[in-house]
Amino acid sequence: MSRVHIYGAALLLTVLLAATSQAAVVRTFPPFERLLENPNARVAITPRADEDNYRLPNDTIPSHYAIELTTNVHNNGETKFTGIVTITLDVVTETNKIVIHARQLENFTASITRSTGGDSITVKPTYDNTDGREFLVLSFEDETFTLPADSTWLLTINYEGNLRTDNGGFYLSSYTDETGATKYLATTQFESTDARHAFPCYDEPSKRANFTITIKHDPTYNAISNMPIDEEKTTSGVTVFQTTVNMPSYLVAFIVSEFVYTEGELNGLPQRVFSRKGTEHEQEFALTNGMLVEKRLSDYFGVPFALPKLDQAGIPDFAAGAMENWGLATYREEYLLYNTENSTINTQTNIATVEAHEDAHMWFGDLVAIEWWSYLWLKEGFATLFENLAVDLAYPEWDIFQTFHAGSYQSALIYDASPNARPMTYFVQKPAEIALLYDSVSYAKAGSVLDMWRHALTNTVFQRGLHNYLTFNQYKAANESHLFDAIALAAREENHAVPALIVDMLASWTNQGGVPLLTVERNYNDGTFTIKQEAYTNDKDYESSKLWYIPFNFAIQSNPDFRNTEATHYLVKEAEISVNETGLTAADWLILNKQSTGYYRINYDSENWRLITEGLINRPHKISPRNRAQLISDLYRFATSGRVPHATLLNLLTYLPNEDQYAPWSAANTVITLFNRYLSGDSEYKNFQFFVRELVNQQFDKFGVNDLKGEQHLVKYTRNVLISIACLGGLESCLTDTTAKLQALVDDGTAIEPNLQSQVYCNGLKKASDDVFDFVYNKLMDSNDQAERRLLISALGCAGDANQLKKFVSSSIDESNGLRTQERYTLLSPTYSRGEVGLLTSIEFLLENWEKYGSLNAGFGGVNPLHSDIVSMSAYVVNDNQKEKLQELVDTVKGSEYVSDTLQASVDANVNANTEWLTENREPLMTWVSSYRAGSAALSTSIFALVLCLFTAKLL
Ligand SMILES: [Zn+2]
Repeated sequence: MSRVHIYGAALLLTVLLAATSQAAVVRTFPPFERLLENPNARVAITPRADEDNYRLPNDTIPSHYAIELTTNVHNNGETKFTGIVTITLDVVTETNKIVIHARQLENFTASITRSTGGDSITVKPTYDNTDGREFLVLSFEDETFTLPADSTWLLTINYEGNLRTDNGGFYLSSYTDETGATKYLATTQFESTDARHAFPCYDEPSKRANFTITIKHDPTYNAISNMPIDEEKTTSGVTVFQTTVNMPSYLVAFIVSEFVYTEGELNGLPQRVFSRKGTEHEQEFALTNGMLVEKRLSDYFGVPFALPKLDQAGIPDFAAGAMENWGLATYREEYLLYNTENSTINTQTNIATVEAHEDAHMWFGDLVAIEWWSYLWLKEGFATLFENLAVDLAYPEWDIFQTFHAGSYQSALIYDASPNARPMTYFVQKPAEIALLYDSVSYAKAGSVLDMWRHALTNTVFQRGLHNYLTFNQYKAANESHLFDAIALAAREENHAVPALIVDMLASWTNQGGVPLLTVERNYNDGTFTIKQEAYTNDKDYESSKLWYIPFNFAIQSNPDFRNTEATHYLVKEAEISVNETGLTAADWLILNKQSTGYYRINYDSENWRLITEGLINRPHKISPRNRAQLISDLYRFATSGRVPHATLLNLLTYLPNEDQYAPWSAANTVITLFNRYLSGDSEYKNFQFFVRELVNQQFDKFGVNDLKGEQHLVKYTRNVLISIACLGGLESCLTDTTAKLQALVDDGTAIEPNLQSQVYCNGLKKASDDVFDFVYNKLMDSNDQAERRLLISALGCAGDANQLKKFVSSSIDESNGLRTQERYTLLSPTYSRGEVGLLTSIEFLLENWEKYGSLNAGFGGVNPLHSDIVSMSAYVVNDNQKEKLQELVDTVKGSEYVSDTLQASVDANVNANTEWLTENREPLMTWVSSYRAGSAALSTSIFALVLCLFTAKLL
């Protein structure tokens, strides 16, 4: 399953950790014999003793399901459906009952017959939902009757259910067709535990079986599923599908709709893209991309796609990003439909990566299932890695791993920096616990850790290991040991030396949470250096005994070769090592972790930071772009946690005028945006803005504010980042150019390039006249395009004029306008998060209208937006005036039905955290940027004096 992709800077504002000094040990590379794997080294998941058992008993197991479903969804979205499921089951140990799963189904009748024939026996279905187990227990009238071991039975259950409206299980979706009529469809989303809502089943990922699916529907509708239609058995209104290969229940899918499709074929595998009528012309990119990435994946794995066809379908209502149902992946429309006229590069990248993610699951998760949800990372980590690797193989010119580094890799490092960070392999049982595993650990961290080992062990070993894993475990369920064994075997097959058992090395990353911090101290006399490892957390006083097997390599200034990313050294679960024979001279910089593929942060001694900074300023392109990005990202964390002086970070940033790559600018953007959030109300804010302008000016001039034909993706991404930073710094040309583009749209309808709309609208509105503001405001009110409406709502919050903002936020409670209900509480957030004017306007608006705003949510349940908006606002409060105003609001709404008792405490926690941040960081930051500005002024004066001097000399 793909998570919803959210862009923007992730905010994590406190950091760090004290180094514990440990005795240095010199490690020699181990002898080759140690490569022999220990087959008994296993990491077992043991249930906690105090837990009720939520797992099915293993006395019966399914081998086949015949499922027949009848739906009349065509009839104005009728939700009632009926089903008959016949499960072929084998009895493993003698039992007097069968236990399977069901959810929100009713009116069960059931019977059982022996597979060899004989009388049908009536079965008594009882629903046991004790503690939410969702068990359907099937017992017999005759209490002495038992199913003998090694016998096979056919269990038939008739039942009824209702299509859900929460995008889970077998559910109802709808859309408006080209004539304005509402159209309905029935579709599925089963991961993790919702197959049991469409048919009673053994709903666990390791309980694989074959499925033969029949769907009865209106003849004007069509049905699609995992497998092609069985032409012989299908008649008008009754679609029968060919029997699947054996697979887990959560990967079953079917859609009953009026969807239309386009099709293609590559290497004998037919592929289709389905979506609602009227969007056919937007299916082409997904179709060709799908064929390209499937080919790259099957070639990489050396394992062909297992089914006779592959479909992708865009669903109007879809909760996750996408879902890897085997042979029929489903998507949010925005992750499948690409319009060549007005879709952005961001949309195109999303479609390519999300489709590659789901396609990768066809091997990781589908062909080889996970034994249990505790190993969710074993499928999601690979899908995260291959959403990038398959796209990199298909479109090398996109340089997608810079995007990966700026996205998944950074977010993993940030969210893993807590003392409570969970391990990748993590014991869960209940559906609610399983749902919590769909986090950055299962996706971003697992993808990053797997990519680290791909580089450390070499792509050759890794690729062979995956081939081993997929072929040894196909049509079965696996746990992490199966993967580790397969990679260990590949290392032996490729004669690749490793310093310890691969099982131990990999398990040190999957069985403990957190991210390592490496601290490097150089000896400038003899060229050696030492490395200490410890867990990196945001609490600098936190100490832990965690140790990892850490692969690393390094580049030095006199040999700046970042190409070979294989590990040359390891920290073998030891706290500290020395590295000799480095080739380092005292004048060289040293950078560990070539291309920043290892999953850890690195701090250096101050002299090495100075050398790196000097190297970046003089010859930035000698250092890999991903390393340049990581140096910025690491230093931000180290500076704001008191580990290095702020000057170290700020000095390093001064190389940025010569930076033209995406990943480093993305890292810089995060730093600048975070600083800006705290400093935008500061009396010396202008000095900070001056610094930002100095950093961005040169590249902004180079990239400009116009999209050019034929540019690579990353150029367009970088331009957006540069516009954002330049306008934040108040660079006159940025504000003028974006305003001019917006004005041209207002004056004569000159279209803004899709890729630049978000930046141009936002920055163009910062100093806009009322006419321009009204133009954009009315455009929002008139638009029928969901994506455009979202973009305009976000942009209108950028306005710099309090009256304009007041008009904007007030529209949320004006029920005479065309805003949709769910849009009404999305206006405040883009307003209060953009600066002081927006924050104060939002507070004033709520002071006057809090009752009306609070009552907007009537009947929707959940946390009232009045409560959540006030808490979110408090995270932007950075001075006393703002604090007073907000407190007035809190005092006003306190005790009302719209906010809970925790409001004051939540607000205080945010405001105090900001105060603390400012206490630690404001002074050193402001002192530095002020003297930077003074220094620049002094420098300009001295240059002026010099020129004057020369001029005078010439005159003489
Ligand atoms: Zn996934």
